[in-house]
Amino acid sequence: MRVGSDPASEVYVRNKAKKARELGLEGTELIHPETMSEAELLAEVERLNRDDDVDGILVQLPLPKQIDPMKVIDAIDPAKDVDGFHPINVGMLHLGRPSLAPCTPAGVIRLIESTGQPIEGKHAVVIGRSDIVGKPVAALLLQRHATVTICHSRTRDLAAIAREADVLVAAIGKARFVTADMIKPSAIVIDVGINRLIVDGAGKLAGDVDFNAASEVAGWITPVPGGVGPMTIAMLMKNTVTAAERRRA
Ligand code: NDP
Repeated sequence: MRVGSDPASEVYVRNKAKKARELGLEGTELIHPETMSEAELLAEVERLNRDDDVDGILVQLPLPKQIDPMKVIDAIDPAKDVDGFHPINVGMLHLGRPSLAPCTPAGVIRLIESTGQPIEGKHAVVIGRSDIVGKPVAALLLQRHATVTICHSRTRDLAAIAREADVLVAAIGKARFVTADMIKPSAIVIDVGINRLIVDGAGKLAGDVDFNAASEVAGWITPVPGGVGPMTIAMLMKNTVTAAERRRA
């Protein structure tokens, strides 16, 4: 569901609904005007909570300023919360209990696992501590027995910490922040960042990692676009199927 006309949200919601339909799930894009009130959106969420044909609800953030995103997330039935943002699902994730895990962090783990390298015992450094990426990525790595360091804007000597990382996850939101000299040779580097740059007058997407130089040093590295982004959508589809199966169990 989308409220308003944020251009990035339009692309994200369209791609998610398209992928759902490709896979044979009934993905419906519900588009509401920018002027929608908080009460109207909460009523819409409640309608979807009660609709037995709906297995997953995703409200694309950011929302227009008159709507408190926390109230909306709290209103979604946790069993249909395929984004994994409801406080019950967040709590379950941090307790290591089965939950609908947030899609981007779950995708990061799948990408690390796809290297075939064990996560157990590795030093994982996560740059970024947001509720939707950094913190859940760190929790999932810890559950897989990595030794986890979380860095943020107040971290001292971040470059030296990053250089110690066997697994480096960049979720900062600053184009090409992680340079080649911050990467341990042969490390696994996962770039979550999606930054819009204007290069020679044209719009271009860039990650948080300086990909070309970093790929000379890293053992494995994800590109932007084409890395974490598509994996996030894949995890959303997985969560939707899990939610449907659990509701029918
Ligand atoms: P937030 O802005 O919520 O968090 C950014 C984090 O980076 C904060 O913890 C912040 O620290 C830290 N940070 C900012 N500047 C620095 C710095 N100079 N040094 C060290 N740490 C710094 O962003 P999100 O977590 O929501 O998103 C991160 C990136 O991932 C964005 O580019 C976003 O577009 C992208 N993203 C991609 C998704 C995908 O599907 N691929 C999904 C979600 C996000 P502090 O807490 O101290 O302020």
